Amino acid sequence: MTAAVLSPVLIVASAVAIAALERWRPYEPRQRLFRVGFFTDFFWYTLVQSYVLGLVIAWLIVVIDRTTGLSRLHLVSAWPIPLQLAFFWVTHDFYIYWFHRLQHASPILWRTHEAHHSGRDVDWLSGSRSHPLEILINQTIEYAPIVLLGAAPEVPLMKGVLDAAWGMYIHSNIDVRAGVLQYFFNGPEMHRWHHARDHGTREYNFSTKIAVWDWLFGTAYLPRSKPRAYGLWGEPFFPERGGWRGALFDYFAQLVWAFRWRPREAAASPDERSPKAPSPTDAARLASEHHPVLHVNANR
Ligand SMILES: [Zn+2]
Ligand SMILES: [Zn+2]
Repeated sequence: MTAAVLSPVLIVASAVAIAALERWRPYEPRQRLFRVGFFTDFFWYTLVQSYVLGLVIAWLIVVIDRTTGLSRLHLVSAWPIPLQLAFFWVTHDFYIYWFHRLQHASPILWRTHEAHHSGRDVDWLSGSRSHPLEILINQTIEYAPIVLLGAAPEVPLMKGVLDAAWGMYIHSNIDVRAGVLQYFFNGPEMHRWHHARDHGTREYNFSTKIAVWDWLFGTAYLPRSKPRAYGLWGEPFFPERGGWRGALFDYFAQLVWAFRWRPREAAASPDERSPKAPSPTDAARLASEHHPVLHVNANR
């Protein structure tokens, strides 16, 4: 069996195994298999979006390669395949840790990531819910170096299987007790806390595969308790209506939601929305404090 045939077979087998383990040893027994958003995540995000973006990203990489001719240099072609896989696995995982942190820190980049956090249940399918912009950025940065540095054709396929299976695993609703392995490899124990709404902050557990990054850079969080709930906190609304209408339209509503216009008034606190008119002295002081040119003039 060729790697091109074997890789989708392995992904489906991992999905079946993980979904079965969720039934056998659930982390959250209340969660159902056919939860709200199941169809959206499975049909739209997993099948349609992955397929379409796969074509777009492959096309982009071909264009970059035609322009630069980099793959003809075969920079890593002589390396053994396990070494090629390990190299791209570690370097991409390091990148994704920092980009993920940036997505949580930057209000603009957060728009590309909030869909991933919107699910009220976290399970084997939750990892697939990612805005197309996030996938476009991350997977181009992931696969372009593999092709451009001249890796063996099996490497992107093997990495694709690893990514898919690991993504399902870290979101899975399986009651894993990984113990000391949590210091090295990420799993549901830590990543489910990344999706928790219990806290007023999401600033922890950004790793996807290698947990070392979180421990090393001070963002690890692994309490003995379990999260009380999952999803977005502090967000007034996210388009997820469920039912047959949701099955048809939620994906598209979520796609455009990232580009919503949020009027200044809605974002401002009540005090900021109706400020008192400043007195002339207040206005001069504020202007001198916040306007560098006026500040210089005021000092003259
Ligand atoms: Zn996140
Ligand atoms: Zn996640």
